[in-house]
Amino acid sequence: MESVSIPPMKLTEMRELLAKRDIQLTKSLGQNFLHDANQLERIAAAAELTATDKVLEIGPGLGPLTELLLKKAGQVLAVELDGRLVDFLQERYTAQLADETGPQLELHHDDALKFLQREPRDWRDWKLVANLPYSVASPILVELAAGSRAPKMIVVTLQLEVAQRLMAPTDDDHYGILTLLVQLDFQPRGWFKIPPGCFFPSPDVDSACVCLVRRATPLLTEEQREPFRRIVKKAFSQRRKMMLKLLKQDWPKEKLEAAFAELQISPMERAEKLSLEQFVALTEKLC
Ligand code: SAM
Repeated sequence: MESVSIPPMKLTEMRELLAKRDIQLTKSLGQNFLHDANQLERIAAAAELTATDKVLEIGPGLGPLTELLLKKAGQVLAVELDGRLVDFLQERYTAQLADETGPQLELHHDDALKFLQREPRDWRDWKLVANLPYSVASPILVELAAGSRAPKMIVVTLQLEVAQRLMAPTDDDHYGILTLLVQLDFQPRGWFKIPPGCFFPSPDVDSACVCLVRRATPLLTEEQREPFRRIVKKAFSQRRKMMLKLLKQDWPKEKLEAAFAELQISPMERAEKLSLEQFVALTEKLC
């Protein structure tokens, strides 16, 4: 079936649609809709979409990004929590939802985090492209990225501060648990800022789109993932304390001291000074 193309959604159309349906936006759901055509194109370009791509979109909202994804990718699976927006998308994309050759758009009315935890699907062939609801962006990313079923690419728009944490190099102020849990499996490729005025309504915080690509070879085995998470979380549980002291609460002193000595990590070191590779090596020594 020929895909039915819908013109890009403009701010005036967004306002009209919301008014016509008497939809008051919900701040706690992070409902800031992206209406800037250039920024939407930049996001789609960062995802390097081709007609065979399968895309997971979390929080399609009124669908400005969904529209582009449907034009450029082969299949889109979108998960939206707000039933009013799901109803709207179902009407707008009747053709794509009813495609007899296999649905081009699959729409789920659900909480994305619960959906991901329940869904047995393997996402390794998929790309995540989304303007994430800011309040749940980090748990969604950890759920999806820090697992053996992680998508091959992640292109997400989120709060600038979270973007900085995802991209942070060692010893940066933003370097921490989220950085390491995501960078274990993903390499940061690039990012760009999106000004508040590109959204309706404008958010109170700055936003950025980040692009992360899954590593070709995992740095740790499946069994080593959980110890890695525990080590990272414990090491950063009190950022200004020496990590050896913190780790001693959960691991035998002798084993820890031997591992630190072998890896030439100072017993005085704080977690923020240790690179991802050093955390990986420490995990290998401790488990
Ligand atoms: N993609 C649209 C855009 O770019 O304009 C909307 C993005 S808006 C920042 C976030 C969207 O996520 C909203 O539509 C909101 O209703 C939805 N949302 C919020 N929490 C959600 C959750 N837990 N699961 C799924 N969708 C959620």
